[in-house]
Amino acid sequence: MSEHAGPAATTAQATEKATTFDVVVVGAGPAGSAAALELARRGHHVALVERGAFPGAKNVYGGVIYGRILDELIPNWWEEAPIERWVTRRQTMLMTPTQSLTVDFRTENWGKPPYNGATAHRAKFDAWLASKAEEAGAELITSTVVTGLLTENGRIVGVRTDRPDGDLRARIVIACDGVNSFLAKQAGMYPDGQVHHTTLGVKETLALPRETIEERFGVSGTDGVDIELVGGTRGIAGGGFLYTNLDSVSVGVVLSLTELGKAKVRPEELIADLKRHPAIAPLVKGGELIEYAAHLIPEGGYNTMPKLTGDGILVTGDAAAMCLAAGIWLEGVNFAIGSGMYAGRAAAEALSKNTTDLSGYERMLHESFVLADHRKLKGAPELLLGDRVQNKYPAMICDLVENLFQVTNPAPKPGLRKLFRRGAKQHGIRLRDLAKDAITGFRAYG
Ligand SMILES: Cc1cc2nc3c(=O)[nH]c(=O)nc-3n(C[C@H](O)[C@H](O)[C@H](O)COP(=O)(O)OP(=O)(O)OC[C@H]3O[C@@H](n4cnc5c(N)ncnc54)[C@H](O)[C@@H]3O)c2cc1C
Repeated sequence: MSEHAGPAATTAQATEKATTFDVVVVGAGPAGSAAALELARRGHHVALVERGAFPGAKNVYGGVIYGRILDELIPNWWEEAPIERWVTRRQTMLMTPTQSLTVDFRTENWGKPPYNGATAHRAKFDAWLASKAEEAGAELITSTVVTGLLTENGRIVGVRTDRPDGDLRARIVIACDGVNSFLAKQAGMYPDGQVHHTTLGVKETLALPRETIEERFGVSGTDGVDIELVGGTRGIAGGGFLYTNLDSVSVGVVLSLTELGKAKVRPEELIADLKRHPAIAPLVKGGELIEYAAHLIPEGGYNTMPKLTGDGILVTGDAAAMCLAAGIWLEGVNFAIGSGMYAGRAAAEALSKNTTDLSGYERMLHESFVLADHRKLKGAPELLLGDRVQNKYPAMICDLVENLFQVTNPAPKPGLRKLFRRGAKQHGIRLRDLAKDAITGFRAYG
């Protein structure tokens, strides 16, 4: 490694003494480890650089991993991945401060191989995936911040780090440095204005005895529950979640950054609201706070993605805004693993052909679920974060159901149509807007 020349806010020139790799992967989150694993398996000399003391040390998420893409990377991964519980029960809860309506689904199918979703702690999961890359021959460099790109004649030829002798030269750099990617921005791949497409995720982990979780959530063994919450964020666009781990639960909110700023409310107050809610309080009662964490989420989807390939650089995962936040799903880990894997493959292909053409990456992304899902659901974030879906519909639906279940005799029972019209009027919903949203929703999800 060469002499460190200070923080590189601007592009630095490559030095002669830098350590040389075929590829430098920046960030050992799921995207980075998948990329490094693919490259190392193909016999390439790859560095996986992570600012945390170990992979996963600095990473935050809600808690559910969808592992199907792992089948391609690590056959029978479920036999060894550090999973807490397999999600066999999924709920979507619409809520107002005093009401809740839950759609509750459970299936035994998701509790056996090849499984569907799983809760896992990122510190363990990321460390495990990175260990796979290391076993395959990748060089993991931890406690090291990449501070800038090295360029030569306009081409990226490596990275600079905060360590003395910290320059790492490479023919290809893969930016897996997560949301707000400093590297993608420095490479000029992002337009401005991403803050409007960024949410803040905040979560608490509450310790509860394993038997208490099983009793309260109606599961046993390693079966678990994933509850998505709509409407419990005091009108701030976003949502909430409650997931079961083995002997803890994760409860959190996801909030529009711009609206949070305007509302002048602290995220922990919103989590406190959730924990007091009549539908949530009995589930989390007595839980001892063992972790509080916050992290940004790139929620804008397909329309807000940066350039994915540049001269000597590929951008993956959250660094490329590949987190899918489409209401029914909040998935980022699987898209990160997928895009990292394709980036690794494309880089390996370019190295073996001795070409600087990295366009194979975008081709693979377009042919796979990564961009297919994002393309298909590109209208979802805007629809979901709008006022009607966030506030008016949950309140209207909860009132409708309350009135439907309420027995009104000696007054005669109101018909469903009457209740619906009354609810729409009461919550200021025009039928025209409802129809428009239904069509937009059908187009986005259909
Ligand atoms: C509150 C919350 C809830 C979420 N819930 C879910 C969920 O339930 N399921 C799901 O699938 N997704 C969820 N997500 C999204 C998911 O966390 C991300 O999409 C996913 O982690 C992206 O993976 P990544 O590898 O691209 O980036 P990250 O996981 O962010 O990894 C980036 C890595 O790069 C490192 N790094 C960054 N900069 C540098 C640097 N300069 N030098 C060296 N290292 C660097 C970081 O330390 C980190 O290890 C959630 C996110 C949040 C915040």
